[in-house]
Amino acid sequence: MMDDNSIRAIIHLDLDAFFCSVEVLNNPKLSGKPIVVGGKPEQRGVVAAASYPARKFGIHSAMPMSRAMRLCKELIILPPNFKSYRTYSMIVMKILEQEADLVEQISVDEAFMDVTSRISDWNEAVNIAKKLQNKLSANIGLSSSIGVATNKMIAKIASDYDKPNGLTIVMPGEEKSFLFPLKPLKISGIGPKIAEKLSEMNVNTIRDLSKIPHNILEAKFGKIGIVMAQWAQGIDNRPVQVSREIKSISNERTFAKDISSKNELIMILTQLCEKVVNRLTDNKLKVKRVFIKLRYYDFDTHTTQRSLSEPTDSLDIIIDVAKELFTFAWTDKKPIRLLGVGVSNFDDEKSGQTELFYNVSRKAAITD
Ligand SMILES: [Mg+2]
Repeated sequence: MMDDNSIRAIIHLDLDAFFCSVEVLNNPKLSGKPIVVGGKPEQRGVVAAASYPARKFGIHSAMPMSRAMRLCKELIILPPNFKSYRTYSMIVMKILEQEADLVEQISVDEAFMDVTSRISDWNEAVNIAKKLQNKLSANIGLSSSIGVATNKMIAKIASDYDKPNGLTIVMPGEEKSFLFPLKPLKISGIGPKIAEKLSEMNVNTIRDLSKIPHNILEAKFGKIGIVMAQWAQGIDNRPVQVSREIKSISNERTFAKDISSKNELIMILTQLCEKVVNRLTDNKLKVKRVFIKLRYYDFDTHTTQRSLSEPTDSLDIIIDVAKELFTFAWTDKKPIRLLGVGVSNFDDEKSGQTELFYNVSRKAAITD
């Protein structure tokens, strides 16, 4: 544990050209060749992932496959093999869990780790990062890029800073000097639409953004504007949250408009419980744990859980526990943008074989 426990050590790890790297592991003859994984050109497919040799031709993910083929005549196109990617992903995450107490998987090839509790000096986080990179390369044969910083936002930008096989360290105190020259679009959470509006305001770097008062950003962008103002100062207090609830059933809903009405939230909570219990009874399962997930307007996200004294599939019991957790967790009554309910700890051997993996959000099948 570090003396100054207000400073965190966060690692973001991103596997390099993950889908293609797995294809090469499965067929070493593909090594060094321009390969892409994605949809067929005749079905208007797009590139989901491109190997680094393919990128030399200007091919990148999200590009139409027909265009990729024109750019590189000897391009090898492979259909995605998600089963194999998931297998490798699980092996990688197990290795990460050996080196960090808190691992938050955010996609099939990306994870945050909080290693603060494992170090006595911040620089030791860098050693953990190097060790991980070497381990993944030596034990599995996968190359990764890593960012080490004092928060998630900066660690994620840092891992992308020097791909492939990069290691970018942003020391405590260096947050602003690292961020300021970069484009706002580099911040995960600022998309092309916001970036374009910022550009119209002559905001082209994070330094420019840091000079705009938060109330102006709020007036222009709403609640996300307040968060953006913090990001521009290098501030991001979001915790790394353990997301690998492997055997769980959950259901969540993101609202078009943030909700602050307790009655309305309880009603939605009840509907979510019904869906979860339907899936439970469909699979003839009983559970010993209920959890709820709250994401506030400012993207602050909390998961609260409770164990049950005996396994259940009773809708009444699960609703009661979910309501109790909600009342317990929603103390500051902040507007909510996402509400989720889940159950885990199945009391059935069958659950070990059933694919019940609804909890980890897997966004677009486009990786880098
Ligand atoms: Mg990647």
